[in-house]
Amino acid sequence: MADLRELYQETILDHSKKPRNFHEIAEADASAVGHNPLCGDRVTVYVRLRDDTIADIAFVGQGCAISKASASLMTDAVKGKSRVQAHQLFQLFHRMVTGKPGDPVNTAGLGKLAVLSGVSEFPVRVKCASLAWHTLEAALESKKEIVSLE
Ligand code: ZN
Repeated sequence: MADLRELYQETILDHSKKPRNFHEIAEADASAVGHNPLCGDRVTVYVRLRDDTIADIAFVGQGCAISKASASLMTDAVKGKSRVQAHQLFQLFHRMVTGKPGDPVNTAGLGKLAVLSGVSEFPVRVKCASLAWHTLEAALESKKEIVSLE
């Protein structure tokens, strides 16, 4: 278990230092801005849709390592997925980070996102980890206002 935790930490560090899909999309079909005032995390998510599929996704922003790593992992995880699949993944993810520490993690369903399972031990970090996901949902629902996790 210690090895797994170490591996998870390394992956989080890697994604926070070298976030994937970290750029704007000029011709985005949808975008939204998310803000987590508790920590100061800010993220803008851009989405290109083809029919009902997330053909491309990217983000920009600044914040703590967890928020950045989570946004990076989120973009990797939902690219090529349908809106419904992305929503289901968010539900799985949300259940994981708001679960009790030690709860079984659905690694088959979550894939790489499971590296953030340790967040459930730190309730104050849950908003950091879920900010990008809430922002994605807002973009897909074409909400124009800023998402603020108060
Ligand atoms: Zn944060």
